[in-house]
Amino acid sequence: MSEAPQPSVQEFEYKAEMKQLLHLIIHSLYTHPEVFLRELISNASDALNKVRFMQVRGLPVHQPEAELRITIDIDEKNHNLSIEDSGIGMSREDLIERIGTVASSGTLEFLSRSKAEEQTFDGGELIGKFGVGFYSVFMVTDEVTIETRSADPDGKGWRWKSQGEGRFTIEEIEKKDRGTRIFFKLKEDAHDLASDYRVKDLIKKYSNFVDFPIFIGKDRVNSVAALWQRKKEDLAKEELDEFYKFVAGDFREPMDSLSLHIEGRVNFKALVFVPSEPPIGYFDPREEKSLHLYVNRVFIQDDCKELVPEYLRFLKGVVDTEDLPLNVSREVTQSSPVTTRISEIITGRVLGMLEDWAKTDAGKYNEFFRRFGNYLKLGIGSDFTQRDRIVELLRFETSKTEEGGFTSFRDYLTAMGEEQKEIYYITGESRAAVEKNPNLEYFRKNSIEVIFLTGPVDLFTVTTLPEYDGKKIVSIEAADIDIAGDKDKDEESDTALKGREAKDILARCKEILGDRVEDVIESKRLVDSVATLVVGTSGMDAQMERMMKMMDSNFTSGKKILEVNLRHPLMKNLARINEADHDDPVLAQAVEQMYEGALLIESNLQNPADFVRRAMQFMEQATRS
Ligand code: ADP
Repeated sequence: MSEAPQPSVQEFEYKAEMKQLLHLIIHSLYTHPEVFLRELISNASDALNKVRFMQVRGLPVHQPEAELRITIDIDEKNHNLSIEDSGIGMSREDLIERIGTVASSGTLEFLSRSKAEEQTFDGGELIGKFGVGFYSVFMVTDEVTIETRSADPDGKGWRWKSQGEGRFTIEEIEKKDRGTRIFFKLKEDAHDLASDYRVKDLIKKYSNFVDFPIFIGKDRVNSVAALWQRKKEDLAKEELDEFYKFVAGDFREPMDSLSLHIEGRVNFKALVFVPSEPPIGYFDPREEKSLHLYVNRVFIQDDCKELVPEYLRFLKGVVDTEDLPLNVSREVTQSSPVTTRISEIITGRVLGMLEDWAKTDAGKYNEFFRRFGNYLKLGIGSDFTQRDRIVELLRFETSKTEEGGFTSFRDYLTAMGEEQKEIYYITGESRAAVEKNPNLEYFRKNSIEVIFLTGPVDLFTVTTLPEYDGKKIVSIEAADIDIAGDKDKDEESDTALKGREAKDILARCKEILGDRVEDVIESKRLVDSVATLVVGTSGMDAQMERMMKMMDSNFTSGKKILEVNLRHPLMKNLARINEADHDDPVLAQAVEQMYEGALLIESNLQNPADFVRRAMQFMEQATRS
């Protein structure tokens, strides 16, 4: 497709968020300005991959015979640098859309957050996360020129020029060769980078695994090494770490790696890494990266989502197989039995590795789970073949672990008393919130362990697990809970209201609350608190209910049961008032207050105004002299 004629030099302005981000990059604390070189080389390598891919698929390209390479020229005297590739090049539109805008969806949010916190960063973080690698060049120069010609046989030459902040210009030029050349003069404080020796060193450090030859002048610098072709025993930790940083675009070291050489029904080699931290765009599908796919050492796809199931998407690395054709398309990889089989094998091996950590190095495993546990939990609902293994790998905080400590279902079962028949959990926003939940009182007093489910992922995964090793997993809010082993039931229940007195006050409470509750019953689980709401025959757990309301404003929950503590002095007082005059307005007000207080504790009180007004009335009565 031929491009429309344009006026000779056109000026453009960057979008607002781009300007902000550029400003941050240029002026942020930047401990490694030299990473610009890695970024430009990585872009060149991507561009070369793309043109190779076009050729593999038989698409026409300009200069099909051109060697695929990256050439760096350094003018030590004048401090000029140029990086050139014979890759896919850019059209005028590419220059405007790809170079002039921020790709990442999380950028704006991140910008406002970092502004609010007055943060300083290692700029490497900004650049890696927001797909603005090219702009790192403005840390070492004040003006950049790009000359490029697209691989499209009808493409033209274009020159793009910018001083970073604010604006850029584009003009048409004569350019014979396919690909892109980027050149600039180094700023004074970056003059040391205008050295063959320095640049060679940096390429070794950052770009050694780039799949194309890199030349400085006439000398080839990098050693292209398909590390995954070698056995893990033959790989030094430094090599693995560097390779990880290269494939994952991370600047930290990985937590661990797994090397696979599989032959049989499916043949592939893989080098898979567990990063040290989850990505910033946690669970945001647009931010999600995955394994890279190679076919016979030829790079085919970035982030091939079919190579691991969703719950292992945090893994980074490469898979290289002989069993797919070179010109495989995204559609084919999406439905190929080869990718499915590869994914199954990788999944099995990765779970095996995690099981091994859990067994031999609990500290390491817990660290892993703290960071990636939310991913793993997704597997419970989505991978039924591995579900049992994933369940064993789950870890929880409980009423008996310290903050940050972990227990597994297995440990829970081993530790629980003979008489306990079920596994208990409580849901809530945070550990601090669930610890204050009155429903926990009974369990704490009787030293029964309760699993704390405090993350949103828990609600949609763990709460759907019906049982573990033959024991039902139940919410302590479930009304029909079969409470086990109340140690001092007898002496305690002696002090509770009983008989007709108890029956009358429960009935009166129900009368006052009417349709709002399914029933009002005596609580066996409360110790210090006076009332709590529990799940009725049609209701759901409080936290679940809140989530449903957040997702659907029309959601109406089933009715709850109000449980009251008949040992509590307040209930005894109310029973006394009820005996004397069951229409006493104080009784009705107190019951309302008790009910709304229970709603408030589970963060489900819609309108706190009445609650507060009543509280004021009671205080007024109490302080009347
Ligand atoms: P990223 O590489 O993370 O996408 P960059 O800001 O480095 O972000 O580059 C933006 C886009 O500009 C790239 O995705 C690519 O489309 C294009 N680009 C950059 N450098 C080149 C190059 N040397 N050849 C062809 N296209 C390039």
